Amino acid sequence: MKKFAVLICLFVHQALLAQEKPKLIVGIVVDQMRQEYLYRFERKFGESGFKRLMSQGFMLTNAHYNYVPTYTGPGHASIFTGSTPAIHGIIGNDWWDRSLKISVNCVEDARQKPIGSVEGNGDVSPWRLLSTTITDELKLSSQKKSKVIGISIKDRGAVLPAGHLADAAYWFDSKTGKFISSTYYVNALPTWVENFNALKLGETYLNKEWNTFLPISQYTESGPDDSPYEQKWKGVDKPIFPYDLKRLKDANGNYDLMIQTPFGDDLLASFAEAALKGENLGKGDQTDFLTVSFSSPDIIGHRMGPNSIEVEDVYIRLDRNLESLFNKLDSEVGKSNYLVFLTADHAVAEVPQSLKDDRIPGGNFVEGKAMRDELNTFLQKQFPGKKLIEYDYNNQLYFNQDLFAGDPRTSGIDLLIATDLITNYLQSKEGVAQVFSKSTLKQGGYNEAGIKGMIVRGYNYKRSGDIAYELEPGWIGGGGPQGTTHGSSFSYDTNVPILFYGKGIQKGSSAKYHTITDIAPTLSVLLRIKFPSGCTGQPITEIIDGK
Ligand code: ZN
Ligand code: ZN
Repeated sequence: MKKFAVLICLFVHQALLAQEKPKLIVGIVVDQMRQEYLYRFERKFGESGFKRLMSQGFMLTNAHYNYVPTYTGPGHASIFTGSTPAIHGIIGNDWWDRSLKISVNCVEDARQKPIGSVEGNGDVSPWRLLSTTITDELKLSSQKKSKVIGISIKDRGAVLPAGHLADAAYWFDSKTGKFISSTYYVNALPTWVENFNALKLGETYLNKEWNTFLPISQYTESGPDDSPYEQKWKGVDKPIFPYDLKRLKDANGNYDLMIQTPFGDDLLASFAEAALKGENLGKGDQTDFLTVSFSSPDIIGHRMGPNSIEVEDVYIRLDRNLESLFNKLDSEVGKSNYLVFLTADHAVAEVPQSLKDDRIPGGNFVEGKAMRDELNTFLQKQFPGKKLIEYDYNNQLYFNQDLFAGDPRTSGIDLLIATDLITNYLQSKEGVAQVFSKSTLKQGGYNEAGIKGMIVRGYNYKRSGDIAYELEPGWIGGGGPQGTTHGSSFSYDTNVPILFYGKGIQKGSSAKYHTITDIAPTLSVLLRIKFPSGCTGQPITEIIDGK
C-alpha cells in the first residue's frame, strides 16, 4: 500500500514537472538574416552561440515568409502575431495614409512623447498593430503578472514584438546615444536603463576601430574586401578594413555610423543582459518574455551586401554576443528554466549589379517620384490635366481617390480604364513580373498559391494601394550598383532561420515547409495559452511532439 502511494506521488510529481512552464522566453530576431548564413559561416562560429541552438535545439531548415513585402515592420509583426499584414495591418515600414494624404510609419503615434530624450524618436506605440501578439496573450493569461520587455536598436524592432500590453519597450536613439522609450509605456526611464545609459558605451564604440574578428585571410566564405558592390562611407577611399570610427564618425552621422557596425549588436547584447538583471526576468511565479531584435546586421547588410566580409564579420561577432547572452541566461535564470527562439524578419537579395556581372538576371527598378512622374505623364494622354497616381509604396500604387469620387462622365476618369492602362504599362516594363489590381486581389483567397497569394496575404484593404506589382527574381526596387535590399516574394528574401532551444524543446531538425506565422501558435501550445487574435499559422508539431 505504501509503495502504491509513493508511486502515485511520483506520477503526480512527474506530471506537474511536465506541465511546468519556462520561467523566461527570449525571442531573438536578427534583422536581415538568411538561413544560408547558418551553414556558410558555421565553421567560424563558436560552439555555444548559433551552434548551441542548432545542435541542442530544434532547427527548421525550410521556413519562409508567406507574404510580401518582406520588410522589418511586417516581419516583426508577423513573428509575434502569427499572422500576416492582411490581418495584422503592418503592411510596410511606412505607407500612404489615404485619408490624411501623408506617409505614416508603422509605429509612429503623435499622441506619445519620448521618454529619456527630449529630441529623440519617441512618438511611438504599437497602436497600428491590429492583432494581439503572443506577448499580449501571455500577459492576458497571467492577469498581466508576466513581465514583457522588448528591446532593439530600431523602434519598430522593440515595439511590435512587445505588443500592446508590454511593461516597456526600449530602442536606441541615435541623436543622443541613449536607449529611450515612450509615454505609451513609462513616465520615466527605470534606474537600470538610466544606469546603462550613464555608461556611455555608444561613445566608447564610436572611438574604436572596426577590424575583422579573425585574421582577414580566414574570411574565405565571402568575396574580396575591396569590392565594387559595397557602399563606401564618407571619407574612405575603398570599402576595406579596418574602419576607424573615430575618424569617420563626424562625416557619417556619429551614432548612425556606430549602429552600422557590429558595435550596434555589442551594445544591444549588453543592454539585454542589463534588462535581465534590471527587470528580474525569469525570477517570478509567471513566465516572463524578453524580445531582442538585433538591427545592425540589416543596416550593414544593405550597405555591403550578403557576399561581403563586413557581413560575415557581423555574424561571427553576433555569434559571440549570443554565446555571452546564453551563458548569462544559464547563470541568472538557470539552464533548464528558459526557452529561446531565434528567427529573422526577412532575408536579403544579392547586389543586383553583382548578378548582372555574373550574367544572372537581376536589376534595379526605378521607383518613387521618378516612376510616379513617368506614369502620370503617360496617363495625361487619356486624362488630361489629372494627376492620378498620388503615391507609391511597397510595390504598390495609390490613386488619388478624389478623382474617382464623382460621376466618371463628368470627372472624365473611369477607374476601370485607368487601372487597365496602368496595369498594362507596368506589365510591359523590364523587371516587372506581375501586376494586380485591387479588385483582382479581392477575388484571391488567403491561401492562394504563387505570387498572387503572397501579395494577398500582405495586402490590407484599408491600408494598401490600388495596384500591386512584383518584380522579377533578382530585381530590387531602387538602389544602384552598390548595396542591396529585401522585400520580394522570392526565397532569397523569405527563407529565414527558425530555431527553438531550451525548456520543453527536444533536439532535432525538420525540412518540412513552415511559415513565419507558425512561431506564435507554437508558443501558444507550449505555454497552453490562447493563440494571438489574428493568428493564421499552425503550431510546428515536430517541435511540440519532439519528432
Ligand atoms: Zn529588417
Ligand atoms: Zn532592411
